[in-house]
Amino acid sequence: MSYFIWFHQHALKHHQIIDKLLTQNYNKIQIIDYFKFENMLQKEPEFCLLYQKKIKCHERDYLNCYLCACPYFRFNDEGIKAENGILIKSQCAISSSQASYFINENIAHLDCSLCIVPHTKAFIQKHFDYEWIKIMQACDLHL
Ligand code: SF4
Repeated sequence: MSYFIWFHQHALKHHQIIDKLLTQNYNKIQIIDYFKFENMLQKEPEFCLLYQKKIKCHERDYLNCYLCACPYFRFNDEGIKAENGILIKSQCAISSSQASYFINENIAHLDCSLCIVPHTKAFIQKHFDYEWIKIMQACDLHL
């Protein structure tokens, strides 16, 4: 699946959950808490492929799925740039020290597995918007 398709499918899933919660008069804090991994596993099994395996994308006690992906993630399926014969399709806008790459057939993809930046409650509250795609608007370099 391309980044572009994943990104826009995920935005729609997130939007539909927010719509449902707002209809039930959830406030901002309740909505953020709803996206806690353990609750999402039970209530929104289709939201993330990893839920089927009951595993977390980052091994940490508190994991919140509200900002799955990350506002600092940058992608372009056609490639962002080429370096030493490697086509880089995704990168970190803040060059996180916890960022790395996995390379397959001379294509590099950003590996965020060691980085916890977007999964803390404080970070989500700081960058909060009911529309996930608004928070992520700088990610899609196709535009
Ligand atoms: S490395 Fe961390 S800060 Fe950078 S895009 Fe990935 S999750 Fe976000």
